[in-house]
Amino acid sequence: MTALESTAAYARTLDEQDPLREFRGRFLFPRGNSGEEAVYLVGNSLGLQPGSVRTAVERVLGEWEMLGVAGHFEGAHAWLASYGRVAESMAGLVGARPSEVAVMNGLTVNLHLLMVSFYRPTPARFRIAVEPLPFPSDLHAVRAQARFHGYPAEQAVVEIPPRPGEATLRTEDIEEFFRREGASVALLMLGGVNYYTGQAFDMGRVCAAARAAGCAVGLDLAHAAGNIPLSLHDWGPDFAAWCSYKYLNGGPGALAGCFVHERHAAKPDLPRFAGWWGQSVAERFAMGPHFTPAPGAAGWQVSNQPPVMLAALEASLALFHEAGLDRLREKSVRLTGYCEALLDGMRSAPFTVITPRDPAARGAQLSLRFPAGGREVFDRLARAGIVCDWREPGVIRVAPVPLYNSYTDVFRFAAALRAALA
Ligand SMILES: *Cc1c(COP(=O)(O)O)cnc(C)c1O
Repeated sequence: MTALESTAAYARTLDEQDPLREFRGRFLFPRGNSGEEAVYLVGNSLGLQPGSVRTAVERVLGEWEMLGVAGHFEGAHAWLASYGRVAESMAGLVGARPSEVAVMNGLTVNLHLLMVSFYRPTPARFRIAVEPLPFPSDLHAVRAQARFHGYPAEQAVVEIPPRPGEATLRTEDIEEFFRREGASVALLMLGGVNYYTGQAFDMGRVCAAARAAGCAVGLDLAHAAGNIPLSLHDWGPDFAAWCSYKYLNGGPGALAGCFVHERHAAKPDLPRFAGWWGQSVAERFAMGPHFTPAPGAAGWQVSNQPPVMLAALEASLALFHEAGLDRLREKSVRLTGYCEALLDGMRSAPFTVITPRDPAARGAQLSLRFPAGGREVFDRLARAGIVCDWREPGVIRVAPVPLYNSYTDVFRFAAALRAALA
């Protein structure tokens, strides 16, 4: 990076040339007590509110007011029709066929529902493989599933180890793990982008390696959906789940995504925790005593879903389709690369970036690991109006989100970090 390139003026030039710059104005930025717009770099934790969400939510409140229960079926936006529409919109963002996706519940709930069907342990093959340092909720869920089937969690759950001294996993080592140990693994439950390191796995190769060893494969895409290009159908995991309140900006507690591969679409005998919403619309309202799951991911639904939350999510997903996933990814690679270049320019910095340098192996996040003193640096950043986050042990995460972050945001973060380190 040249001296010119490390100036605020250069960041402004990059913003002027950004073909997606107008999307920033369509989001609501938090203003702290000072009243000044925050430099918001935690879209990987809770995405910002699109301005269009309020209108969409108020529309549903109005329908409820005017139509009552008829709102399910009547009006321009009958709630019943919105389930399939939102699932289809979501499918387009994760590289799935429409019937492979349902929008329902929360992420961890979906993981459990899907593991009920796809974690089928036997005494010879009961282990669940996970990446190092998975998100705690995933760890609680896989351990609970193992115990539910009568296997001790300490023996059942195995973290695929990185090489000594390395924070991230190499794809060839994951492949080697499945060649060596796959026969005892019932399920690979992988965070497609790890929340701590920001590493994006080569999910196609990893799915292939695990499936070749006879393992079921589930992906947690909490940090991947809306962040990196996904080809769920082609990669061929058995199932996947993700939340919609991080990069997808669906709002706090938003309805989560659920993917079940087409090859399982018509298997009514798979064990599953059934509820009336998992049936076809006709059967659901026929109120009969027998349960026949709807084909595809819809057959894993349990309860009716909240139209207010669906409306928020639908409004948000529309922005992704409008901006275009290719253009978002292109900007994301540039924006995160720009952040990395500014960090590289900090001589004798007391942190290391543990996120892979290869853009193909990461999304919109960089994780800065501090052997010591990181918390103090983080607190100084917060006082300077930079919203990023702190994850134990020792990591500051920053996520420049291409839909609404600017190069100037990243510049201001880097300047504040430099000041905090001084
Ligand atoms: C954010 C996140 C969660 C949170 O789970 P919820 O059920 O949405 O509360 C779980 N797993 C991963 C990998 C996450 O990133």
